[in-house]
Amino acid sequence: MNLDARTLLFSLILTNTFMVVSLFVAVSSREEAEKQDGIAKWAVAILLQTLTWILIAARGSIPDAFSIVVANGFLSGSYALMLAAVGEFQQRRVPRWKYFVPIALTLLVSAILINDIHARFIWGGMVYIFQLLLFARTLLTAPESHTGRAWKLLISGIAVVIVVLLLRAVVAMTGQVILAQPGANDAPHWIQVVSFVALMGSSLLGSIGFLLMVKERTDREVLHLAMTDSLTGVPNRRALMDYAERALAQRGGRSMALLMIDVDHFKRINDTRGHPAGDEVLRQISRLLSKRLRGGDLLGRYGGEEFCVVAPDTDAEGALKLAESLRATLESAELTTESGKISVTVSIGLALSAADAERELKDILAEADVALYSAKKGGRNRVASFG
Ligand code: GH3
Ligand code: MG
Ligand code: MG
Repeated sequence: MNLDARTLLFSLILTNTFMVVSLFVAVSSREEAEKQDGIAKWAVAILLQTLTWILIAARGSIPDAFSIVVANGFLSGSYALMLAAVGEFQQRRVPRWKYFVPIALTLLVSAILINDIHARFIWGGMVYIFQLLLFARTLLTAPESHTGRAWKLLISGIAVVIVVLLLRAVVAMTGQVILAQPGANDAPHWIQVVSFVALMGSSLLGSIGFLLMVKERTDREVLHLAMTDSLTGVPNRRALMDYAERALAQRGGRSMALLMIDVDHFKRINDTRGHPAGDEVLRQISRLLSKRLRGGDLLGRYGGEEFCVVAPDTDAEGALKLAESLRATLESAELTTESGKISVTVSIGLALSAADAERELKDILAEADVALYSAKKGGRNRVASFG
């Protein structure tokens, strides 16, 4: 297959232009709250790359100062902006020298070596590789940014460019490179073909990777919101039930305990201290209870002033101890609210899924509810087990 430099460069400009348009559409369709995600900076970075390729395509018809020095400056600027985009996405401050020193070096190298393509391939390439490694390092050192899969696309895009830059440097060190001028009909050097194809690929991989990385984080945040109770910050009923279903399915021969916790005479707190104080009490109760739990146990807000604890791998004796310690914790705690100190007690209903029996969650919940009712009937501030 004979690919010619002009067509390749034209395709590179075209794909980058469409990428820039897509990125700006993504930028403009975001909500106000999502504006600090780095997409705008990434879009400008790809725009700068497009301008770089346009300047390179014009080589011969415009002064070399533009098609070499300015073009390289734009490319370096675009890598700096990519770094800035990742910094913004991670909400990390990137030291300014990481942006400006490589750009200055690139301008210097391409101005001094304007007539020496071999030396430019070697020294200019080193500066770009340094910038790309800075980018990769920033991306990879934040645990949050590589929890999904998108970072792999991003890193592949960067790796492709680094490999090509290394290849160019090696080619320049070992032989004579005569590049085809985009304006002429010369056959391109193979390194030109490889570079253009790799740059096209990396721009697509990188941009899609970046957008996907932002999307992955938004998805995680939305999922977190959907699973969290907004008043207390503990898992909500849906998260609680999901967890219980999973624990039930995976209990593998051990029993699971379910505690239904209901605040005693909570209505009185609302009536005498006001609703905001009631809210504060619920927040503090969930904090106090969460603190008492073991690693595998999950406390969630079941609804209103009812909480639930799912305790996998817990037998009757352990569950009773746990329930009793939760009850005692609240009995001895004094909750401080804006309307003064408030004491609360809770009643707890306890149900177990027997180790061997196939049980449905709704049946266990119903049993915990029956137990809770009997704890209330028995005088409140106590634990009752089902059966
Ligand atoms: P018992 O000891 O029998 O459980 O009495 P109780 O007053 O706690 O029971 P009841 O179920 O009658 O009252 C629960 C109250 O909880 C009623 C409701 O207004 C209040 N409540 C439910 N959700 C919230 C909330 O998010 N914030 C506040 N402040 N109150 C809530
Ligand atoms: Mg209740
Ligand atoms: Mg109650």
